[in-house]
Amino acid sequence: MSKFFIPRENIEDGRLYIRGGDVSHITRVLRHNIGDEIVCCDGMGNDYKVKLSHVDKNQIICDIIEHKKSDTESDLRVILIQGVPKAAKMDYIIQKTTELGISEIYPCELSRCVAKINDAKKTERWQKIAREAAKQSGRGIIPVIHEPIKIDKAIDILKKSDVAFVPYECAEGSYLKPVLHAAGSPGTAAFLIGPEGGFDKQEINKISESGIPVISLGNRILRTETAGEAVLSMVMYEIGDING
Ligand code: SAH
Repeated sequence: MSKFFIPRENIEDGRLYIRGGDVSHITRVLRHNIGDEIVCCDGMGNDYKVKLSHVDKNQIICDIIEHKKSDTESDLRVILIQGVPKAAKMDYIIQKTTELGISEIYPCELSRCVAKINDAKKTERWQKIAREAAKQSGRGIIPVIHEPIKIDKAIDILKKSDVAFVPYECAEGSYLKPVLHAAGSPGTAAFLIGPEGGFDKQEINKISESGIPVISLGNRILRTETAGEAVLSMVMYEIGDING
């Protein structure tokens, strides 16, 4: 069942107020009416089962029947730092990694990025894609899409995370599983994926010198839009919540 994200301030005293675009979606598209039950979420990991008690064209008022922690969030927060790919690929990456449980995404401008970020509205648009995907997949939070960063900031974020690594197709003899298992029960995991053209040697040297493990994902070369999803699935399976 799809969820509706409601701002925290619209929830008070056992009632929940739905306003804006969701009103017509719920009443006209989904044809819900007074007495029907739906699920709403505050985007901070709390789900509310509610019953519609008043409907007009500007707002829906609901009575809260049940309130519980969203069961779609892992205790592990995963951060993807993504070398900016060409246009539509970033949309795809945001959508798919949101479905798979990502918490934050930083677009990263690297030397071999072909796409230039010259549109200030891009982050806003990407955030909307994350919101839609979060709604569709029943997430308890909306992943945060940050403003684009450069390599130094990326290294900073990786270093601050409990477990961090960088997949690199030329890495030899270093793999993901031992890196993840050495971390125990980390609260945050972060990784950086190169753009279509991959990393240049200087970037990889900088990353290695900062002590972040550079790992192989096997002998097959994955496209940039495949790599993030594949890695996120592996991380969620090994140390997140896709393992019962
Ligand atoms: N430079 C390469 C492709 C880059 S693939 C080329 O043009 O052939 C994009 C990104 O996916 C890489 O920078 C890396 O982060 C990740 N990646 C893809 N395949 C990988 C593999 N087999 N091992 C580790 N990382 C990989």
